[in-house]
Amino acid sequence: MLDVGRHPNIELMAYSEVEKLEGTAGNFRVQIRKKARYVNEDKCTGCGACTEKCPTVVPDAFNMGLGTRKAIYSWFAQGIPSTHTIDPEHCRQLNGKKCGICKKTCQAEAIDFDQKDRIIELDVSAIIVAVGYEVFDPGLIPEYRYRELPNVITAIELERLLSASGPTGGHLHRPSDIKAKEKITELEKELKKISKALQKYETKYNEKSDQFYDKFKAGQYQDDPERKKWAERYEKYMEVKGPLDELKKQAESFHPARRLAFIQCVGSRDARFYPFCSGYCCMHSIKEAIIAHEHEPQTESTIFGMDIRAVGKGFEQYKIRGGNQSNIKYVRARVAEIIEGNNNNPVIIYEDTRERMVKKEEFDLVILATACAPSKGLSKLSNILGFELNSFGFVKTDPSFPLDTTRDGIYVCGCAHGPQDIPESVAQASAAAARAAQKVMQSRLRKAS
Ligand SMILES: Cc1cc2nc3c(=O)[nH]c(=O)nc-3n(C[C@H](O)[C@H](O)[C@H](O)COP(=O)(O)OP(=O)(O)OC[C@H]3O[C@@H](n4cnc5c(N)ncnc54)[C@H](O)[C@@H]3O)c2cc1C
Ligand code: SF4
Ligand code: SF4
Repeated sequence: MLDVGRHPNIELMAYSEVEKLEGTAGNFRVQIRKKARYVNEDKCTGCGACTEKCPTVVPDAFNMGLGTRKAIYSWFAQGIPSTHTIDPEHCRQLNGKKCGICKKTCQAEAIDFDQKDRIIELDVSAIIVAVGYEVFDPGLIPEYRYRELPNVITAIELERLLSASGPTGGHLHRPSDIKAKEKITELEKELKKISKALQKYETKYNEKSDQFYDKFKAGQYQDDPERKKWAERYEKYMEVKGPLDELKKQAESFHPARRLAFIQCVGSRDARFYPFCSGYCCMHSIKEAIIAHEHEPQTESTIFGMDIRAVGKGFEQYKIRGGNQSNIKYVRARVAEIIEGNNNNPVIIYEDTRERMVKKEEFDLVILATACAPSKGLSKLSNILGFELNSFGFVKTDPSFPLDTTRDGIYVCGCAHGPQDIPESVAQASAAAARAAQKVMQSRLRKAS
């Protein structure tokens, strides 16, 4: 990626979208909307001083909402370009409130609240569509209770939790435990505020709040409005302290998730959604179980699937190594339902198709290996660029020329035309670039003759 950013023949137009296409293969004119970042790309050094000072905190979409980011942010740490962006939906200044802290902080003077979207026109000979895929929404399978049970997550969420740059620094804390800890911090803050107010009364009346409250409840000081307020504050203090103590007690038993269940084919090979195999999910579940075990050697993983499709050089050996060295158990099963057990533990009900028995098993965390679905904007893009989609909503290609779309001069690679893993996507990207280069050369020769 760094090489791409530095390459003299490549112009990166991040945060931009194609809006219009005219012309024919070899002679296209493309209209692109370069969205306003409210940060001058040429001036921003990516130092992050603005982000540090920005007071607006919102859920971080890159971390699948498991962490937070500021209203001025960079999408992720290694992003190219490293330029920061202001999120116009949440920025105080851009929503008519007084702020501008980032502008005062930025020494490079890169903040520009007046920046507007720009329309750029390019003449190109060929186009490659590489818009990737979308993670299937497991909420569409109600029996898996995604979003209902906090410790049922998707594989992509697990990847963020296992990442050293993720919201938990790579520790496999369960979402329910993370939420409880956030609640503890919130209640501690509130309690500190109330304690401060109570201290003022204690100093003034030279008496501890609990002793005063006992007397107040016994009928003393009932006509004293200030002491009435003191009693109210003390009651509030107890209201916050009770749940806080309870949560702190619970938190003493929190530990990283050790019993992991992976459910395969969530939305894939399922006539209700996508009847095809998504290709990469068996391998990413094995990879994630191995990484979780590397982080915490006590981790035990069970992978529930109709079969494990380890199709690729060395993949079967990788699967076996996972079983032998990383505490992975493979169970041939179709999971029927997930319910909640004690301590926010998800409980899986499944049919073990080898033993022909219905079983029930409790885990710390359940991970759903979701299907590869077409990219959300692909339908709109196909209308703009004028190519067809197949019956699943991916880019339609010609079996004899698998990277050619139905429109001459427009090519496709990666998950935009169906599930592929990274090596396949990279190989296809090279092949699509070669197809596009042919079109460029044809166009040049035509123009020269
Ligand atoms: C949880 C999980 C783990 C995985 N782990 C592995 C692994 O370990 N190894 C492996 O080989 N594969 C893995 N995969 C598969 C891997 O993610 C894909 O093979 C790979 O991302 C496909 O690359 P792509 O470039 O086609 O698509 P993407 O990676 O999806 O990239 C597409 C890009 O296009 C952008 N885009 C979308 N729409 C537009 C638009 N209209 N205009 C401009 N830009 C747009 C997107 O923002 C995105 O940046 C995993 C998948 C999942 C879900
Ligand atoms: S103006 Fe304020 S809220 Fe908006 S990005 Fe700058 S610091 Fe954040
Ligand atoms: S790769 Fe595995 S989990 Fe993914 S759809 Fe195919 S069989 Fe199911």
